[in-house]
Amino acid sequence: MSKAVIAIHGGAGAITRAQFSPEKERLYINALSEIVAAGQALLEAGGSALEAVSEAVRLLEECPLFNAGIGAVFTHDGTHELDACIMDGKTLEAGAVAGVSHIRNPILAARKVLEHSPHVLLIGRGAEIFAQQHGLEPVSPDIFFTQQRWDQLQIARAQRQTVLDHDEPIHPDTKFGTVGAVALDKHGNLAAATSTGGMTNKMVGRVGDSPIIGAGCYANNANVAVSCTGTGEVFMKTLAAYDIAALMEYGGLSLHQATERVVMEKLPALNGSGGIIAIDCAGNVALPFNSEGMYRGYGYVGDAPSVGIYQSQER
Ligand code: ASP
Repeated sequence: MSKAVIAIHGGAGAITRAQFSPEKERLYINALSEIVAAGQALLEAGGSALEAVSEAVRLLEECPLFNAGIGAVFTHDGTHELDACIMDGKTLEAGAVAGVSHIRNPILAARKVLEHSPHVLLIGRGAEIFAQQHGLEPVSPDIFFTQQRWDQLQIARAQRQTVLDHDEPIHPDTKFGTVGAVALDKHGNLAAATSTGGMTNKMVGRVGDSPIIGAGCYANNANVAVSCTGTGEVFMKTLAAYDIAALMEYGGLSLHQATERVVMEKLPALNGSGGIIAIDCAGNVALPFNSEGMYRGYGYVGDAPSVGIYQSQER
């Protein structure tokens, strides 16, 4: 029996202590702690890693503080296009959706793709029809609206920039990224899940790393489960999530060495910023990021959740 553990992230970026009032910081810390605790409870009750990451990401999508589901960022045209991916390390089965606007919880649609489709990735209208056929009620994209994200789009449009939701020069108050979860269950199974609204002011039709297996999400019981957040195009070009697994499998690197290599060397070499969360098959946890902060947390079953926002802050 392994020591079950879950880790989550709510995006990485230029997040500094100076931007946060104590009240606001508490909001984030509480949200992260509650979601880690929900994942721990599920794992403690014998739930699978797949169930734990799916539920943790669903909760993150429901929380307007984070850029996924409710609270997702806007495209250039003022619409929402959401991406999500889930992967089961035991079977290497994966499911993903991209560019969806009428699904409240894209991670649940990704899971339907994993469980009920011969395919791995469905996009746009096809993904929405498939989700509906499998019991996910369509929603109006209005439910994703938050004033904060709308204001963020106006700033980005005025500056003619496509902006990662956490990058300068977006107002500090509006810096949040993708969400994700990785878990190891009692039976030694790993799973990973990632969900995002993408980048503020992105072109309609743009898809980032989050729904791409091996880029923003990867899990294999043989070595590691990984979920990423950051400059999506660079995570795609470096196959960041799979690269960590490959460095461990072929290079014999430890979890710590592999994640440091990718996050601190390979991504920055292409101007990639962001971070990853990863759990290896022995239950080790790594949460490295090369940005100023990353909303993150983890917890072994039976322990109190440990969460952080800035550099070297875990509590
Ligand atoms: N990686 C995400 C994307 O490019 C954005 C983020 O993590 O903030 O779609």
